[in-house]
Amino acid sequence: MEQSSVSFIQKDNSIVAPTYAKADLDFVRGEGSWLFTNQGAKYLDFVSGIAVNALGHCHPAIVSAINAQTNSFLHISNLYPNAPQLGLGKKMLEVTGLAEQGGKVFFCNSGTEANEGALKFARKYFDRLEKPHKTGVVTFWNSFHGRTYGALAATGQEGLKQGFGPMPQGFVHVPWNDVAALKAVVNHATCAIMLEPIAAEGGIMTPTAEFVQAINALKAEFGCLVIVDEIQTGLGRCGAIEGAKKYGIQADISTWAKAIGGGLPLGVVLLSKAVADQLKPGDHGTTFGGNPVACAAGLAVVNTISAPGFMESVQERSEQLKQGLKALASIYNWLGELRGDGLLMGIVTKKPVADLVAGCRAQGLLAHRAGADVLRLLPPLTVSAEEIDLALAKIDAACANLAK
Ligand SMILES: *Cc1c(COP(=O)(O)O)cnc(C)c1O
Repeated sequence: MEQSSVSFIQKDNSIVAPTYAKADLDFVRGEGSWLFTNQGAKYLDFVSGIAVNALGHCHPAIVSAINAQTNSFLHISNLYPNAPQLGLGKKMLEVTGLAEQGGKVFFCNSGTEANEGALKFARKYFDRLEKPHKTGVVTFWNSFHGRTYGALAATGQEGLKQGFGPMPQGFVHVPWNDVAALKAVVNHATCAIMLEPIAAEGGIMTPTAEFVQAINALKAEFGCLVIVDEIQTGLGRCGAIEGAKKYGIQADISTWAKAIGGGLPLGVVLLSKAVADQLKPGDHGTTFGGNPVACAAGLAVVNTISAPGFMESVQERSEQLKQGLKALASIYNWLGELRGDGLLMGIVTKKPVADLVAGCRAQGLLAHRAGADVLRLLPPLTVSAEEIDLALAKIDAACANLAK
């Protein structure tokens, strides 16, 4: 028997490598927008496993799709086609409009892996077109694309790279929404401009219309590709299936993860026909990528999110959350700018964001941070109007305590 004087977090610290700052919570069950602890406390979950649990916890459509697939096979490798991959792949190509253009899908296991794939496919594309000089990748300050080397090199946050050098070559970063800086670095050696439709981790930064216009114009002028990282924004999080479409970014390659596996690890790279046509067997691969159980769960997710009326309800909840946060910002003068779109919302705080996150947790609300000073709210896309009101009341109480 474990001694009761040892907390769950102490146990974790004695076993798991210390790469995360975790809260001392012992969750044993999740249902819808709620998580329940071993001690019987319940928390309204506006973190959603960092935008993974788009349909909340244990959504019946996901659970039943997983159960059904576990009765067939769990894994057969990518040496053989399988129905769950074909089902999810077809649906993703349909909901993004790529099906009619002859686009293709590549499956992997995570966000960072999807971005590694995207970067490799982009460079391979120009190599096959006998333009091997086109290797440069332009990304943005405060962007986040993942923790493996290619994706980390693409990421525009020096702190995350500190001590891990040397980085892969050919990446340059310019300030977000800075058209002049972008124009100064894109040229005939540019392989791709890579961006998030909303730079979420970096502080929930939305793109201006001029910025998007410049990206599309540079793509046309220099014939580079545009890689859109939809890992956090995609599948309804920003209020649309695709952030790229919502803001008018012309993507050649897009990357998807987080919500797409319904809680199981899954990543997807969507490719234009032109890029897909240049790929050959052996160019890239993964043993686990597109796991059949994860793909079965993924189809349930995409079916649910793309069903009539779903996105309208996300928009309604988004509007409700925005209005509520605005009202709070008018009460607490240390709360500032409202950021984001859909149900990827944030509010700038002049008080330490870690204190606000902890304060919300003390009220029974799980929230997260973004950048240095933004409280990030990622409710499940299935969140109810009552749950939004409840969360706002909890944030209000947390703010009132902090203001004392
Ligand atoms: C989370 C995230 C990633 C990395 O995904 P992992 O699955 O953690 O590797 C990449 N890009 C964006 C925009 C993300 O939000």
